[in-house]
Amino acid sequence: MAKRDYYEVLGVPRTASEDEIKSAYRKLARQHHPDLNKDNPKAAEEKFKEISEAYEVLIDPEKRQRYDAVGFEGVQSDFGPGGFTWQNFHHTGDLQDILGQDMFAQFFGRQGASSIFDLLGGSYGARSPQRARDLEATLSVDLQDLVSGTNKEIELVRREACPRCNGTGAEKGTKVETCPDCHGTGQVHRAVERGYTRMISITECSTCGGTGKRILKKCVDCGGSGEIRRRRVLNLRIPPGLDDGTVLRLAGEGERGRDGRSGDLFVRVDIRRDPRFHREGRTIWTEITIELAQALLGDKVKIPTLGGTALLTVPPGTQPEATLRLRGEGLPPPGGGARGDYLVRVHVHLPESLSDSQKEGVKGLFSSGPSAGESAWRGGLFGRKRS
Ligand SMILES: [Zn+2]
Ligand SMILES: [Zn+2]
Repeated sequence: MAKRDYYEVLGVPRTASEDEIKSAYRKLARQHHPDLNKDNPKAAEEKFKEISEAYEVLIDPEKRQRYDAVGFEGVQSDFGPGGFTWQNFHHTGDLQDILGQDMFAQFFGRQGASSIFDLLGGSYGARSPQRARDLEATLSVDLQDLVSGTNKEIELVRREACPRCNGTGAEKGTKVETCPDCHGTGQVHRAVERGYTRMISITECSTCGGTGKRILKKCVDCGGSGEIRRRRVLNLRIPPGLDDGTVLRLAGEGERGRDGRSGDLFVRVDIRRDPRFHREGRTIWTEITIELAQALLGDKVKIPTLGGTALLTVPPGTQPEATLRLRGEGLPPPGGGARGDYLVRVHVHLPESLSDSQKEGVKGLFSSGPSAGESAWRGGLFGRKRS
């Protein structure tokens, strides 16, 4: 669809006065407001946007002059690459007056503030691309790192205050004036009535984007935005005992917004799998296989632990699938504290064939053992004797 001439959109002559433009917009805004066109809100919204774009240009003497001189090209740079959006609309106050307090009260009452953010975009700052933004990162740690915590580095690219202008956006030595619309506060207050309740709605000043300042000469490094993208390496302390997938929040380490505030950085901690260990909360499990002779006679066996290795005492007479416990060799609870236990499940390897001399030895070993009858009785009825 070809773009319609702004005067045509508002239905006013090229010689129209400010009052005529205002009154034309007032009439059309009421007519095409999406809330008043419930049978076709989508089309109404398009129309509403079209008249608001025309109003944005024609009500501003400087923009209107450029439009009169060269047409749409004269005001292109006032909008984003995709053309006019609600974030480019500087007259939400007028709109509020036009629609009446009732309609604004309705918005608040019916859908909550988000619908106003949707409708009025940048003036409230909620949908502004220059708003402080939270960042996310993922970090992998080993199980061993969780015993007493560890320090890690995170590399990220984020928007920060421009060092040349200290985030003001103004070139060194040039003046920064106070914003005439909000008188430097960065906020605009408007009264809204909701039923019998009077509310004061505080919104970000759309003229200065909440900075409260007007820049006369833009900083050459950041082009007046007051911010640049930087690569950063952050040191992060990983507390002991974290659960897999825990998210750590680093307040203020996100991206800087236009108002100078910064979002937060959220770091997800993933724990690398280690085939030697199985974790259940504070408890760590492992499995070992020992020979029959070690089970019968006892031994010391080298096993992996979270701290390196340890010599595990296998007592004489250790039964197959027995669990041996190393107290305090597990993990602490999240944030630190007493460590859990390290449990070792013991498999016993039975030889599949024996040499003749080994057979003699085994026979000798059990010659003084229980009789066949006693053995069957113990095993059959009551199970294995537990030590
Ligand atoms: Zn700068
Ligand atoms: Zn302002």
